Amino acid sequence: MPDQSFDIVVIGGGIVGLSTAMHATRVFPKLRLLLVEKEDSVARHQSGHNSGVIHSGVYYKPGSLKAKLCVEGAAAMVEFCRLHNLPHEICGKVIVATDEAEIPRLNVLFERGQANGLSGLRMLQQQEVREIEPHCSALRGLLVPSTGITDYAAVARKYAEIVATQGGTVSTGTEVRKVVRGDQEMIVETTRGAFGARGVINCAGLQSDRVSRMAGQEPEVMIVPFRGEYYDLVPEREHLVRTLIYPVPDPKFPFLGVHFTRRIQGGVDAGPNAVLALKREGYKRTDFSLHDFAGTMTYPGFWRMAKKYWRDGASEYYRSLSKAAFVKALQRLVPEIVSSDLAADGSGVRAQAVRPDGSLVDDFQFVLSNKMLHVWNVPSPAATASLPIGQYIVEMARNGFAIS
Ligand SMILES: Cc1cc2nc3c(=O)[nH]c(=O)nc-3n(C[C@H](O)[C@H](O)[C@H](O)COP(=O)(O)OP(=O)(O)OC[C@H]3O[C@@H](n4cnc5c(N)ncnc54)[C@H](O)[C@@H]3O)c2cc1C
Repeated sequence: MPDQSFDIVVIGGGIVGLSTAMHATRVFPKLRLLLVEKEDSVARHQSGHNSGVIHSGVYYKPGSLKAKLCVEGAAAMVEFCRLHNLPHEICGKVIVATDEAEIPRLNVLFERGQANGLSGLRMLQQQEVREIEPHCSALRGLLVPSTGITDYAAVARKYAEIVATQGGTVSTGTEVRKVVRGDQEMIVETTRGAFGARGVINCAGLQSDRVSRMAGQEPEVMIVPFRGEYYDLVPEREHLVRTLIYPVPDPKFPFLGVHFTRRIQGGVDAGPNAVLALKREGYKRTDFSLHDFAGTMTYPGFWRMAKKYWRDGASEYYRSLSKAAFVKALQRLVPEIVSSDLAADGSGVRAQAVRPDGSLVDDFQFVLSNKMLHVWNVPSPAATASLPIGQYIVEMARNGFAIS
C-alpha cells in the first residue's frame, strides 16, 4: 500500500521536470502532483551546471523538435525572466569561420536559422566581425542577435516556487529506488516512502535510463555522460570578449566546440569541452564510479560510438589534460588569449543518449509506455526550450494517462 496517492509523480527536479510540473499544475488546477528530487535542492545537476545561454535555434535541423521547441522556448524564456524579474540579457552572439573550409558550413547555419524563422541573422565580413568583437579573428561571421544569457538554476527555482503556489508538491531529498506497476496505480518507492500515481513522468536526466529500468522498462538508449570543463577569463582580460563568440561546430557532433560566453552574473567563461565522464554526476576529472564506468564500458553501443569517434574523443581528452591545447583552440577565435588569461573554473556533465548501434540521439526523445513517460534525451538547448518542453510532455501525458 502506498503512503499517499497522487495523480502524477514527476521524477527529477531539474529544469525539465520542474517545467513539466509547473505546466501540469497550471493546466489541471485540481491535479494532485508530486515531484521527487533526490538531492536536497533543485537544479543540482545539468540545470545548475551549464553555460546559461538562451539559444536562438540556429543550429538545429528544420522540422526537428529541437528547432521548434528551441525557437519557441527562447522567446518564452525571455518573457518568463522578464515577468519574474530573473536576470537575463539579449546580448547576441557571433559564430565565426576561422578557415576557408568552415565558410560553407557557416552558410548552412545561416540557411538553417532562416528556415527556423530567426530574425535579424546577418552574414558578416571580416571587418564587420571586428566591429562587434574587436579581438576576434575570423574570415567570416554569422551574427545571431536574438541569443541571450540567463541563470537557469534561478529559473528552475522559480518554476519550483510556482509549482508549490499552484498546489503541487516538490519533495527534495527523496530518491526513487523502484517503480512498481500495481493493478490500479503505479507505486513509486522512494527513500521517503511509497507514493501511488496514475502516471509517472521520468525526468531523471543523467539517470533517466536507470529510472526506466527500475520500472521494468528496458531503455532503447543508454545515457553516456560527457563532462564539459570551463575556464574563466581573468578579470583584467574580460574586455577581450564583448558578447558570445562560437566556432562553427562540427556537424558530426551534438556539441558546439569550445567558445566564449559572457555570464549573466558577470565574467566570461571559456569552454566547455566534451570528455567522457567516468562518473555520471562527477564534476572533477578525478571523480570515478565503478558502477557508472562499468555500465558505459559494457554497453555495446558505447564501443560502436568509440570506434566512430575515437580520434575526436582522444583530442578532447588531450585538450582536457593540456591547458596549452585548450588555449590553442581558443586562440583560433581570439588570438590574443594566453594561458595566464585563463583560470580553471567549474564543469557540467551532459546526459547524451546513445543507441545500441553507437549513434548519438540528436533530437529530443520522449517515450510513452504504459503508465510512464520517459524523457530520454533532452540535451542542450533543453534549458532554453524548457517551457515548451514542459507543455509538450504534459500534452503527451494528457493523452497517455488520461489526466484531467
Ligand atoms: C556543460 C553544459 C552546458 C550546457 N549549456 C546549455 C546552455 O547554454 N543552454 C541550454 O539551453 N542548455 C544547456 N545545457 C543543457 C541543459 O542544461 C540540459 O539540457 C537541462 O538542464 C536538462 O534538464 P533536466 O531536468 O533534464 O536534467 P537535470 O537538470 O540533470 O535534472 C535531472 C534531475 O533528476 C534527479 N534524479 C535523478 N535520478 C533520480 C532519482 N532516482 N530519484 C529522484 N531524483 C532523481 C537528479 O538529481 C536531477 O536533479 C548544458 C548542459 C551542460 C551539461
